[in-house]
Parts: sequence; structure tokens; C-alpha cells
Amino acid sequence: MNSPRTRRRPALRLALLAGLAASLGCSTVAKRGPALLPTAHQVKTGPFVVYSNAPLKADAPPVRALDRLRADLAARLDPGVDADPGPVEVYVLDDRNAFLHLLRFYFPELPPRRAFFLAQDDQRIVYTFNGPMLDEDLRHEAAHALLRGRFGDIPLWLDEGLAEYFEAGPDDLQDRDDRLARLAADAKAGWKPDLRRLETLDEVHQMAPRDYRESWAWVDLLLSDPKGGKPLLLAHLQEHDGRTALTTTLADRGTDGGTLLAHLGADPARVVAQKPAADGPHPARVFRLQDRPAAAEPSRPPGLLRRLGALLGL
Ligand SMILES: [Zn+2]
Repeated sequence: MNSPRTRRRPALRLALLAGLAASLGCSTVAKRGPALLPTAHQVKTGPFVVYSNAPLKADAPPVRALDRLRADLAARLDPGVDADPGPVEVYVLDDRNAFLHLLRFYFPELPPRRAFFLAQDDQRIVYTFNGPMLDEDLRHEAAHALLRGRFGDIPLWLDEGLAEYFEAGPDDLQDRDDRLARLAADAKAGWKPDLRRLETLDEVHQMAPRDYRESWAWVDLLLSDPKGGKPLLLAHLQEHDGRTALTTTLADRGTDGGTLLAHLGADPARVVAQKPAADGPHPARVFRLQDRPAAAEPSRPPGLLRRLGALLGL
């Protein structure tokens, strides 16, 4: 296992999800010091190598969460996920302060957050910390890692939608009810699904909390559809150069925003027309872009985003 501090950084192609708009330069990554990363203990499970300062047993909840995630992805999406050879490095810092210190040291221009996934070429790295949401955070970020390992680059909205779908587990009915309740409130406030717009988003900072909710909803629709929803989604994931807009593919089979609202139980005919409300502060749950800053919405310096985009050639 390469230590991050010893990695060579050739031509950068960093993709940073779940909070970072894009990536960071090699000089920033290269100055990573050993004291900031937990390396005292490691436990391997499937493609994951989990590093921590405190010993982590092989049957500890975070490890089991990663195992369940892999099983869920294989069962619900694609059995090929099980063949992931890894490694996916997972760094679980001691606590929030240690994590924020790491962020300040390596990613000083970024707002605080709780976890993120970083990919460069074949390297996949998850950073998070030991806190009350650790299992869920791990599942979200590790889902990004597994999806990237299986499908390579995939559309941003779909990457986040799938990570949301699998972070608590598709069998978690309370999680699903919570999401449906928020989407129903969105619909009452005037929201209408717009997959075509989601498909135009290519930077995480463009995604508002409601976009995460909508992305989850489209994934839920497709993976709940017994009439070919999953194969359609898989075909889209496996398509790369010249990928057809999913909006177009769905329209050909008569699936549109109205279909999604009906699926969610928010019959558009019953939606009371009223002035759309602005997205208020995010309530209780986790959205990887928005959740960690102290404020409801992160403030991202435009200059930083431009620089990150430039590094990626975006
Ligand atoms: Zn994410």
C-alpha cells in the first residue's frame, strides 16, 4: 500500500466528490505529512483498507458498514462490484478536530466538511472521522469509490444520487420515508423534477440540497422499476464516450418528471400552486456538499473553483 505522502503525482486528474468541486494540485497533496493521517492500525475488508489510530476490529460497525455496502451495491445494482480488486484507502481520523485540522492543512481554501472522496487515476481515497455519522459517511463516500472502480467517470448527479441511495441502505425504510417527506415538501413549494437540468451539472458546488434529493429520487425510480429500470440505468453507467442523455432515453419509454412525482406519491394534480420557496437551511440529514459547513450553504470562493476546474481541464 502506497502511503499518500510517498505517491508520485504525474499529470493530475483528480476527481474529488462529496464536497470538493474538483481536485487539488500535486504540490498540495505532496506536502501531506504523516502526523495528520492515522496509520497506526489498518484493517482490510474486500477492496477497502481502513486506517485509524485506534484499533478497529474486523467486525467493528464501520467495517461491517463497508461490507454491507458492497453487498448492497452488488445485489441492487451490479454484481461486478464484488470483483473490485481495490485498494480503496479509507482514513478514519480520531475526531472532528483532527479531521478539520487535516482539511486546514491540505485543503485550506475549502469549507469544513465531514467526509470526502478523492480519486486520482487508479487511486481512490476516502477521508472521514470517528463521529456519530461515521457508518453512513463511510457508505456514502465508499459508494463513490466503488462506483468509480466499476464504471469510471459517471455523471455527477448520478454519482451523488447513487451514493445517497446506498448511504443508509435501500432497505432502510425510515430513511426512505424521510426522503419522501422532504420531496413532498419540495413539491408543495413548487419544485418540479428536471432531470435534464441535473444532467448539465458537472461540479459538486452546483448541486443544491434539493438536487441531491432529486438525484436520489431518480435512482429510486429506476431501481424500483421492475420493467427494465435497472438494466437501463446500468447501460447508462456503462456508456462513456458520447453518452446519451438519460432524459432522452427515459422520454423514449414515456418516463418523465410526472412519472417521478407519481412514483414519489406526490401527485402533481394535488400540488397546490404557490410561490416557490427558497431552499431553507438543510434539516437534519446528510448531504455531502452542504452538510459540513457551519452555515446552511457553503460559501466557496469562486477563485478556488476556477483554479480547481483549471487543474482538471474543465
Ligand atoms: Zn457524494
